[in-house]
Amino acid sequence: MKLEIKNLNVFVKDKEILKNFNLKILPGEIHALMGPNGTGKSTLSKVIMGYPDYQITGDIKANDKSILNLEIDERSKLGIFLVYQSPIAIDGLTNSEVIKACLDTRENKKGLYEFILNLEANVSNLEMNKEMLHRGFNVGFSGGERKKNEILQVLMLKPKFIILDELDSGLDVDSLKIVCDNLNNYLQENPDVSVLIITHYTRILDYIKPTHVHKMKDGTILETGDFNLAKFIEKNGYNQSFDIVGEVSNE
Ligand code: ADP
Ligand code: MG
Repeated sequence: MKLEIKNLNVFVKDKEILKNFNLKILPGEIHALMGPNGTGKSTLSKVIMGYPDYQITGDIKANDKSILNLEIDERSKLGIFLVYQSPIAIDGLTNSEVIKACLDTRENKKGLYEFILNLEANVSNLEMNKEMLHRGFNVGFSGGERKKNEILQVLMLKPKFIILDELDSGLDVDSLKIVCDNLNNYLQENPDVSVLIITHYTRILDYIKPTHVHKMKDGTILETGDFNLAKFIEKNGYNQSFDIVGEVSNE
């Protein structure tokens, strides 16, 4: 999916969070967005997904059509998926019920048997415990288990544009690798899917290689580069400018 953000300004309760934010992501591209705490990364994710709490000027387009007037569920049906930084729990609905209900709203609705086979295959690939499917949605799940559960939804719903908001927070080293291996398989099978990875660390970018890296500060993108920019930021923080090409080697 092509996603374009043009001159986006976002306010919450008269506080300006995103300022003249511009970003264009083409089908198949993987963009990493790095920035200090409180700079507006999660706000950007929620604004793309369609959360109603924000005052917005500018535009967000998916495949060249503005999505600003679409509700969250309509954006989801278009193929936009947000992997939350802190996924919530819902009591009273099981995990598999939530995923089935989402899938049932899609055009190519699948039969129950196919759904179960597919769900169990993905649960096994993610090395999740099968009984988690029948527990309340994220109820009693650890932070890392919730993140895995988010990726299970990705694999089942097959989105076209994925935002990973600090997927790496809460996941142990082995789980991060499992989750990234599964995402990479999905991306290889669906080369037009594009991704926005929000992170502070290069570890996730070692697994899912970004085509572009952006440094965000004070609500806007200050610098754009390749993987070397991510390595520079991890080493030097957000306050120094990366303008000397080749300063960080590829080793
Ligand atoms: P990041 O994800 O980059 O750490 P956030 O997007 O979560 O940052 O937050 C950006 C800024 O906006 C922070 O200062 C945060 O406190 C503020 N903010 C976000 N949502 C709200 C809200 N609903 N009401 C007031 N301030 C908010
Ligand atoms: Mg955040």
